[in-house]
Order: sequence, then structure tokens, then C-alpha cells
Amino acid sequence: MFNMNEIVGSHDILMITLDTLRYDAAVMEEANCPNLCGGGPWEKRHTPGSFTYAAHHAFFGGFLPTPATTHKSEHVRLFHSKNTGFNVHPYTWQFDSTDIVSGLQAEGYRTICIGGVIFFTKKVPLARVLPGYFQESYWRMNFGVTNPRSTEHQVNHAIKLLHNYEKTERLFLFMNISAIHGPNHYFVPGAKKDSVETQRAALRYVDGELGRLFQAFRERERPVFCMAFSDHGTAFGEDGYNGHRLAHEVVWNVPYREFIL
Ligand SMILES: [Zn+2]
Repeated sequence: MFNMNEIVGSHDILMITLDTLRYDAAVMEEANCPNLCGGGPWEKRHTPGSFTYAAHHAFFGGFLPTPATTHKSEHVRLFHSKNTGFNVHPYTWQFDSTDIVSGLQAEGYRTICIGGVIFFTKKVPLARVLPGYFQESYWRMNFGVTNPRSTEHQVNHAIKLLHNYEKTERLFLFMNISAIHGPNHYFVPGAKKDSVETQRAALRYVDGELGRLFQAFRERERPVFCMAFSDHGTAFGEDGYNGHRLAHEVVWNVPYREFIL
């Protein structure tokens, strides 16, 4: 794992949630995702929340998806709240704040949220809570789940912002990708409903768009630490279940990767 005490302060930090991406769908597309998987395969993890709102509160509190292994000693966390009395691994970065976003802000980071799914729209008070963690937050209609080119619009917006910031400024950019969340049947011509197949097609589309974002980050002065993972999966009829916000292994198992750009 990376030593987060060497990362925080010296690197830009990019966190991408691939909303609703199932672990099995992600694994089947590894060979077709050169941007997300160019450096290695997905790691199987368990999410702390079965839907967007719950999972993201945990993430921002420093609780990223947990390795899906029974070897507890391998569960080294990237982030941990300071002064809790727990033993903390020397590679874990400790924040003296309510959450990692304000914790990184206190370390001199500009914190930016590019929203995707409904909990980031800022249209009602509830949908302003998660963006409210950040100094700057953005959502446009064409970033949302109904737009077949949502990732293109999200990435374009992020790149435009990157060009406005000083190259030396520390950035923590969070992006919630909406394209893999339903509806995604339109990524397979002729498909009438969402399925593992249409989710896989959505993921291939997303990976293709992320290349431009990664390139824009590489052109900045600092190296970039990137975390990319799903907030939860979703059921397509397994054991009679449909959707998420329910306890089923297709919801709890999520793909996770961390890498340097
Ligand atoms: Zn979600």
C-alpha cells in the first residue's frame, strides 16, 4: 500500500466513485479499461454502505471499502481520525477533523466536488449534504443519470476547472460518476432494460472518458494519487432482489483500485 503520510501534502488527490458498479461486471471488463486497470486488476472489497448516501458519508469519514479478506491485519486504512485511542498503521494519514475533506482542506488542499447521481444535485436540502463537505461543488443536468454522455460532460467540466487553478496548488478532486447507475440500457443498442451487460458497456464508456481527465491531471506539477471504486453494486433479479439499498452480495461486493497517475 501507499504511505499516505508521504502522499498527503505532496500529491494532488483524485477520488472517483463509479456509482453502482458491480464487482463482477468490473472484473469482466478489466481488459477493456486501460485507464482504470492499466496498472493492475480490481481488488474485491466490501462497501460500508448499500446505497449512495450511506456509503459516501462513510468514505468522507475515512472509511473506504474494506478488503474482502478475513485477515484483519491486512486491513490497513488510508485515512483515520486522529486521537481515537486506536492503534494506527504508520502509513495511515490521520485527520484532525470530522471528515477527510475538511481534513485535507486544513492541509492546504482546495476541495472540489463534481456530482453525478441524485444525492449530488443540490436541488433539495438532502441533495446538498454530500456536496456540502466541499469548498466548491458542481452539478449540471447533463452530469446526471439520464444523460448518455454524462461522463464526457463531467470530465469536460473538471478539465475546465483544472485550467483555472494554479498548477502548484494542492487539489482534492472528488467525482461521482453517474453513467453506470441506472438507467444504462442505452449503452447497448436495442437493449430495453438494465443488466450486467449494459452496465459493462457503461463502464467501457466511462473508462474511455476518464483518459482525458487523467491526462489533464498528469500535466499539473504534482504527482497524483488516485482512488477509484464503487459505492455499492446493484441486483438484477438475483434471488428475487432488484436494485440496491438492500443486503445482497452483489450490492456489498465492490471493485477498488488505488494508483499513482
Ligand atoms: Zn450510489
